[in-house]
Amino acid sequence: MQLAKQSGEPDQQTSPYLRAALIDSLFETSAPMLTGLVFGAGAAAMTALKTGSTLIWACVALLVVAGVVRAFIVQRYHARKSPPTVEDAARWKKYHQIGAMIQATALGTWCSATLLFTDDAVAHMICLSTTTGTLALGAGRAYGRQWVFQLQAALIYGPTVIALALRGTPYYVAMSVVCTAFLVAVLQISANLHRIFMQALVAREREAALAGQFDTALNNMPHGLCMFGADGRLAVMNHRFSEMMNLPDDSVQGGVSASDIIAACVASGSISNASGSMILSEIENSQARDMITTDPDAARNRSLSWTFQPMAGGGAVVLLEDITERRDAEAKISHLARYDELTELPNRVNFRNEIGRLLAIQQGVDRLSALLFVDLDQFKQVNDTLGHPCGDQLLCAVAGRLREMLRPEDFVARFGGDEFVVFQQDIHSNEDAAGLARRIVDRLSERYKIDNHLVEIGASVGIAMTSPGVSADTLLKNADMALYRAKADGRGTFCFFRDEMAQTVEARRTLELDLRKALANEEFELFYQPLVNIKSGKIATCEALLRWNHPVRGTVSPIDIIPVAEDMGLIVDLGRWILRKACMECMKWPEAVSVAVNFSPQQFHQRDVLSEVRYALEVSGLPANRLEIEITESSLLRNTQLTHDVLSQLHSLGVRISLDDFGTGYSSLSYLHNFPLQKVKIDRSFLEGIDTDRPLTLLRGVARLSADLGMSVVVEGIETNQQLELVSTDGTVTEAQGYLFSRPVPAVRIRQLLNASHGRRSTPDEPLVVVPSRSIA
Ligand code: C2E
Ligand code: MG
Ligand code: MG
Repeated sequence: MQLAKQSGEPDQQTSPYLRAALIDSLFETSAPMLTGLVFGAGAAAMTALKTGSTLIWACVALLVVAGVVRAFIVQRYHARKSPPTVEDAARWKKYHQIGAMIQATALGTWCSATLLFTDDAVAHMICLSTTTGTLALGAGRAYGRQWVFQLQAALIYGPTVIALALRGTPYYVAMSVVCTAFLVAVLQISANLHRIFMQALVAREREAALAGQFDTALNNMPHGLCMFGADGRLAVMNHRFSEMMNLPDDSVQGGVSASDIIAACVASGSISNASGSMILSEIENSQARDMITTDPDAARNRSLSWTFQPMAGGGAVVLLEDITERRDAEAKISHLARYDELTELPNRVNFRNEIGRLLAIQQGVDRLSALLFVDLDQFKQVNDTLGHPCGDQLLCAVAGRLREMLRPEDFVARFGGDEFVVFQQDIHSNEDAAGLARRIVDRLSERYKIDNHLVEIGASVGIAMTSPGVSADTLLKNADMALYRAKADGRGTFCFFRDEMAQTVEARRTLELDLRKALANEEFELFYQPLVNIKSGKIATCEALLRWNHPVRGTVSPIDIIPVAEDMGLIVDLGRWILRKACMECMKWPEAVSVAVNFSPQQFHQRDVLSEVRYALEVSGLPANRLEIEITESSLLRNTQLTHDVLSQLHSLGVRISLDDFGTGYSSLSYLHNFPLQKVKIDRSFLEGIDTDRPLTLLRGVARLSADLGMSVVVEGIETNQQLELVSTDGTVTEAQGYLFSRPVPAVRIRQLLNASHGRRSTPDEPLVVVPSRSIA
């Protein structure tokens, strides 16, 4: 809010309130003004009678007219029904000024005329005392409009002073000087009065503004507020307080005591009697304090926060806040932070803390407990095939079964995903833990009915027994290691932690660290092994096989690298490197030779597998028809529609797909039929005992079936001429791969080998491929 200036003439920025007050001040003392008018005109008439001067009579007439005009204006002003608007105020001001000026001119003219044109001392005295009195009256009345009064004073007294001086006699001149001094003093007094008046007005307006702001703030704050004076009586209470305490309007009269207010709160049923007494004693205590009450009773679950603040000169301010929602939200957040939202079981953090606490209690006491780490088998498949909502229901069902089978003193938590942990307290021997683990595996493996689906899963359990001084973290780590072992042992079983497990895990951890470094340091290398076309004897394709030249371990087999890289999620980066490197290497080979790259299931199911392949072809410049991607049956197992789509898109790019290691997994013939595959690689395990009839018949059957479905057939692992002869006699097997032709060799060597086999031998003296004389022309 803009407030008026402290002193001086009110200007454009003066608030409407101030402007109205100033105008009002001009009219409020109308009685002295009207008396002045009457007496002025009367005095003039007396001088006119005494002197008989026509000029003076003319002045009397002018004074009467001025008096009538001013009286009329004052009467109209006071007859107004509503406070003046801004425009009205300006108009009234103008009327007042016109009236005042006319009267001042009339008075000045009368007095100066009497002094100049008559020699009657009585008349002189009358007119001089009348103008002097009018001037003094005006100073006390017209302080609201400074310049109006100054002009008025000049018009009344200016001609008088001049006329006195013009008479020229020493006494009149002296009188003129005295009157001038009087004029100056009166103007000064009026200016002072004006300043004081303005200050008072501004202070009043500021006070009103502050009171308004305070009132707005008080009644719009979310807290309830009560202020009690030093005498313990209510000074202020806002609406929020009476609303929260449900107080009737008449109970909130100013001056009621704190105990009356609290009694009213209790009577309205907003707070209990006990809370009331506590609150009253805090108010009387006059000490800063916070307090939370549950009012009016625990059943209503309403939490009120009371703050008591003593005031400087005695008395207190009481602030009241309804914190029910905040408390509920805090309780919910704290619950969410400690419990799993889905199963309502304690979560990892909660479990970890609770176990820490229980172990601390057991410290130094000869008691045995077990920690069982439970992991569901095949849960992922349920999630993938039936969808996440079913997966969620399954997890809830598992949580329910676990809860049912535990004793009250045991503790179960969900660690996230399909991992649950049980803390079995106070047992006698390992056998008790084994018994519980067995029961858990059996119970969780029983069928579940979820949304009309019958679901079967399994469970594996890792067990760690407590030992003196063991920490919660160690116990969890050990149980996790034991679980890893249980899963490796074929799942659906349990396993106790043993010390050597830690070493295995440690070794794997080092391998993981090494692998990460290896990728960054480019310690990997690709070896290539040819696939030979049985009819032409030429190398049709070379398979890229990963090798790791470890500075300490020596050459590490891909069989050790790939599963770890998959677990670490490193396979995607590694696979990308392999694909690009292999494509670039193939560009250095004769055009008729393709490259085959192995894709692990994880790599195959990454979202942008297509763009990875496209990019590798683009950067290397390799035509798509010279790239073969080898996938295993496990890649086809997951998300079959998506897999089908990816394979079709790769096929439409021109890339060929080989089904690797056929015969080691499910060996599902439906895969051969349903997916767009161009090549089947029959695993070398088919060659075992091939010299007997049954395996050979089986191999030939699979080979014929695949050939009939339009696929090329490769037999892997050919080591002897006899094996080659056996697989190639009926003509269905198109290509062969194995040590008989070549072991996997480094890139430089495969280049030499290819040049040799395609008639461009770079080292003619040493053939690099063992080519069976019968089949390779
Ligand atoms: P695979 O794709 O079936 O590769 C053939 C494996 O059989 C190679 O083993 C090869 O050296 C071996 N082999 C070839 N001919 C014979 C033979 O006559 N006798 C015997 N005993 N073995 C033979 P390697 O190089 O140790 O690779 C093993 C597996 O590791 C591969 O099987 C493949 O599944 C995987 N692998 C290799 N490199 C990569 C790769 O770059 N990426 C992915 N994802 N997996 C790879
Ligand atoms: Mg392969
Ligand atoms: Mg294979």
